[in-house]
Amino acid sequence: MTPSCQLPPNNIAGMTAESAGGPVGQVRPITYYGEDVLHRPCAEVTRDTPDLDQLIADMFASMYAAEGVGLAANQIGVGLRIFVIDCPEQDDEGHPTGRSVVGTVINPTLHLPNGHRELVERTEGCLSVPGATAVLARVSEARVTGFDANWEPIEISGTGLVARCLQHECDHLEGTVYVDRLPKRARKQALADADFSRGA
Ligand SMILES: [Zn+2]
Repeated sequence: MTPSCQLPPNNIAGMTAESAGGPVGQVRPITYYGEDVLHRPCAEVTRDTPDLDQLIADMFASMYAAEGVGLAANQIGVGLRIFVIDCPEQDDEGHPTGRSVVGTVINPTLHLPNGHRELVERTEGCLSVPGATAVLARVSEARVTGFDANWEPIEISGTGLVARCLQHECDHLEGTVYVDRLPKRARKQALADADFSRGA
């Protein structure tokens, strides 16, 4: 397997299918906690899946419009195993390195360290639970393998916010929203804090 997308040298936000000459992304509404598509496992993508380039472009457009650092396909209502990421790196102290991890992963597999896993408690949020955050423990480093938008093998790995984001997006594709991992009281609080109105 050839790692084909790891830690671009600079923040290359905007490196989407659109800027590469692909379809122009349309911003789609973000699905909210409680909508079925967020609470069931997504389906494997195949090479026959139609309109994949458009879907990926729409995912980037929707993620940027919502100012997210990652987006799973079911967050725009499509129950397929794809996520996109444009996530700033942080060092071990949580300070930004100035670089971002940008990519598309189709049919991702999450790999967490074998043996000892360090857990880190940080505040987490989700576009599908707008306006709420909660402290959640995540494994400190994570790696995802899968395929990029051109069906080339891809591997993305990271620590800090990137590791958290990879775990968060892979959770989405399993039908798990981060608040599902919270203790019951904290989950109720996060859902109470959220603003599910469309602001229209
Ligand atoms: Zn989310």
